[in-house]
Amino acid sequence: MLYDNHGRLINYLRLSVTDRCNLRCFYCMPEEGIKYVPKDELMTFEEMLRIVRLFVSLGIEKIRITGGEPFVRRDLMAFLRAISHLEGLKQINLTTNGTVTAPFVRELKELGIRSVNLSMDTLDKERFFKITRRDVFKKVMDTFEALLKHGISTKINAVVMEGKNEQDLIPLAMLSKELPVDVRFIEEMPFNGQGTHYEKLWWSHRQILACLEEHFPDIQKVPDPPHSTSVNYQIPGHCGKVGIIAAYSRTFCGTCNRVRLTPQGMLKTCLYDDGVFNIKKLLRAGATDEQVRTAFLDALGNRAKDGFEAERRRNFGLPVSESMATIGG
Ligand code: SAM
Repeated sequence: MLYDNHGRLINYLRLSVTDRCNLRCFYCMPEEGIKYVPKDELMTFEEMLRIVRLFVSLGIEKIRITGGEPFVRRDLMAFLRAISHLEGLKQINLTTNGTVTAPFVRELKELGIRSVNLSMDTLDKERFFKITRRDVFKKVMDTFEALLKHGISTKINAVVMEGKNEQDLIPLAMLSKELPVDVRFIEEMPFNGQGTHYEKLWWSHRQILACLEEHFPDIQKVPDPPHSTSVNYQIPGHCGKVGIIAAYSRTFCGTCNRVRLTPQGMLKTCLYDDGVFNIKKLLRAGATDEQVRTAFLDALGNRAKDGFEAERRRNFGLPVSESMATIGG
């Protein structure tokens, strides 16, 4: 088992397989997009596989595949097939915007993908276009339907944005009434390729909860699974739960069990750090598995205690502003 220098169990890898995305979400990148990493700087299929094998042998039990949009990477399904049989890897989950995912849902089910997070910030086609700058709402709904049809556990992720989708909070929460889905509301972070949108974040976790409590006075707190980033609630009579992720307020760092690997192979031991070391570079320099293992364990031995410390430790003390697509959300 892997532990960091603060005694936290580390068993979860969020692997970003690409920085490319076919949406231009307001909270994630500017309208004109971001400068993508040159293709030869992205990890290859073989490099990702080697790292995953190594990490699993060290104690990583759960992997979430993310991006950019993972389904725009051509060899994604082959990669999922390759890791789906890895001994010791207990769970593979995915995060997707759902725009091109529907045709793959059946195979995801066959591969044993247990859970998919579908990003959906609104149920309104017009607002979807304004937020994502792409007219593909119907495609996302197709994926949502396919996930439900194939019985893949689905969580809806919605970033709550001032002046953009406030009116969607309650309709999104209502999805959990008839459908077996959890709906999670995420605080907006300044990972948008430009820097913070606000002087003060209005839609903090407290404000989101206040809004839910106003509309659902009987809403009840329920126990959170271990290492959960969401604080979870049950609205009486609803099949699914609702959750709030204080991603900007960073209230859950004390139980954080995750590390991240960016599409360029940069290891991040916190979302808010600017990368600890580049594993792909080590591999390309001919490092042995033992050398990579040592570097990884060293990084875990020097992990920031929380996202605030990680942000303070960034190069030149600059605050975060990179797009989430370059990190892997
Ligand atoms: N393309 C996939 C998707 O849309 O789900 C995976 C990558 S996306 C970067 C992963 C998650 O990060 C999404 O749920 C998205 O809403 C969230 N995200 C992106 N930028 C964010 C930001 N600035 N603040 C909060 N959440 C953000």
